[in-house]
Amino acid sequence: MIQYKSTRGHGEMKSAAQAVIKGLAEDRGLFVPDSIPALPFELKDMIGKPYKEVAKAVISAFFTDYTDEEMQHCVDGAYDGKFEADDVVPMVKAGDAWFLELYHGRTAAFKDMALSILPYLLTTAVKKENEEKKIVILTATSGDTGKAALEGFADVPGTEIVVFYPTGGVSEVQKRQMTTQTGDNTHVFAIRGNFDDAQTGVKKIFDDGDFNRDLNERGFKLSSANSINIGRLIPQVAYYVYAYLKLLENGTVKEGEKINIVVPTGNFGNILASYYASKMGIPVNRFICASNKNRVLTDFINTGTYDIRRDFYLTNSPSMDILISSNLERLLYHLSGENGSEIEALMKALDTEKTYTVSDKIKEGLGAFYGGSADEAQTLSAIHDIYEEEGYLMDTHTGVAYDVYRNYVKETGDRTPTVIASTASAYKFAASVADALGMPEEADGFAYVKALAEKTGVRIPAGLKDLDSKEIRHKDVIDVESMRDAVNASLK
Ligand SMILES: *Cc1c(COP(=O)(O)O)cnc(C)c1O
Repeated sequence: MIQYKSTRGHGEMKSAAQAVIKGLAEDRGLFVPDSIPALPFELKDMIGKPYKEVAKAVISAFFTDYTDEEMQHCVDGAYDGKFEADDVVPMVKAGDAWFLELYHGRTAAFKDMALSILPYLLTTAVKKENEEKKIVILTATSGDTGKAALEGFADVPGTEIVVFYPTGGVSEVQKRQMTTQTGDNTHVFAIRGNFDDAQTGVKKIFDDGDFNRDLNERGFKLSSANSINIGRLIPQVAYYVYAYLKLLENGTVKEGEKINIVVPTGNFGNILASYYASKMGIPVNRFICASNKNRVLTDFINTGTYDIRRDFYLTNSPSMDILISSNLERLLYHLSGENGSEIEALMKALDTEKTYTVSDKIKEGLGAFYGGSADEAQTLSAIHDIYEEEGYLMDTHTGVAYDVYRNYVKETGDRTPTVIASTASAYKFAASVADALGMPEEADGFAYVKALAEKTGVRIPAGLKDLDSKEIRHKDVIDVESMRDAVNASLK
């Protein structure tokens, strides 16, 4: 039986179902499993098995309180025809890397991998725990989580969903995806601020005791669809296991041979999932953490000092425009030898001093990670080069990852077989990608989508087609200080 405890060392153990409902621990820490399970199967027995089967086994190994039937219900609901690709996540070789294309879900970004199953994990948890309150999903988004969460929770009985996105910090396509969202239980607000402001605002609402008591009396309970929710993180572990199985299947590696994993990183959820996969038994040589110009993680991995006293940049990879990477807290907890008071002190220092330096023990653990960054121009040349040389189309976030990867190879000469987490469709960031390919200017983001399709012949994801002709349903733009009132007003 695996239980969940807080990274800050206080409070009691929870079951997975309880942790999924709560989202954030009482002491503001994040829930982590009290042990990371070994792979629940022999790798050789799973080669060639469908994604759904691998996902079910991996998630079940962590969420031991869900019955077999419950987990089957969850994966059946999540990984059905909603993905426009054979077997959910294709792996495509381009250059000398394998691109794990995680973006073939309904909102065309990797967030669909976890957010198509989270509503099932959550509603199942609510039943298991006899929770009678309506669950209110509060979500801060740098662009992709919001839409994927809205799509996942729209019209799910017993839930309301409220999304906050930074008004100038998302692409035109991303914005339109959110503002046209249908569903009676969906609420979307642009905030005047950046993603960190949105995320901090949401955390404050979670921490507001009076407000939460008032909501409880009215029959509501807050939860989260951000990657602070363990129900987001664990489903992501599955695709790294699946990727290794694919490399075994196509003969790139033999069982036991190590791989490198490159992840374009913002909130540190996706790369942390790859770390969990390695703890389960997937052999990993190096975790390559790729950042854009907001390179706080690059500097942290290289120095052991996390310092947010720096300029914040809006870039062409907006889903990674983040300075406070929430899930790093989980990695630090594991690397510290599960020292909750040490982590609490670090997070307090971040809050008050805006910086912290980790212990030698944690620094040593960080040795498995390589940190690198790509600025906007480097991102565009990466997209350009791989398209010209290989005919492979990448989005800007994957472009950051590819650029950091090729620099890593140059610097280290390391030729370990490599998987790059490919996190979004190029069409979500069509204007930047068109620019990278040297295409002429167009009138708006939607014209770029069409022009890019004509040039490349790559199919436009169904969810992005005709986006510009859909009715805009969510128009509110609010100040950060009004986020709580917005939640209040959304709940009738
Ligand atoms: C969210 C996102 C990322 C960053 O993922 P994290 O888990 O927050 O590190 C990278 N690329 C895209 C396209 C995203 O939507």
